[in-house]
Amino acid sequence: MKPMIFKCPACGEDFDPRVVTTRDREERSFSCPFCQEKLQISPLYTKTIAGMSLAISCVIAYRAGVDDPFGFVWAVILINFLAAQLISIIVRRIVPPKIELYAPQFLSLNLSGREKQ
Ligand SMILES: [Zn+2]
Repeated sequence: MKPMIFKCPACGEDFDPRVVTTRDREERSFSCPFCQEKLQISPLYTKTIAGMSLAISCVIAYRAGVDDPFGFVWAVILINFLAAQLISIIVRRIVPPKIELYAPQFLSLNLSGREKQ
């Protein structure tokens, strides 16, 4: 498989996300290996993946023939829990993550304005 490549929006360098060593789990940010700028995966992208994962889980639960509403909810939660990693790997291959400069969540409403930097 082709390695996934991120492009730094600050310095424009391409890099392999596997070489990123500076990660901050709390802030969900990481540093560019070239310019050390704090970057993040677009929150919109993360939400899209979560939404797709949930939708796929619903389809699997439906296909499996779970017709009890309570059981259906539990099946979706369970499948989503088990499949989220797998789904995110597949989706990342189809739609590469959008990398943007790190911004705390409450300031990141301006999603489209960052495109032309
Ligand atoms: Zn950079």
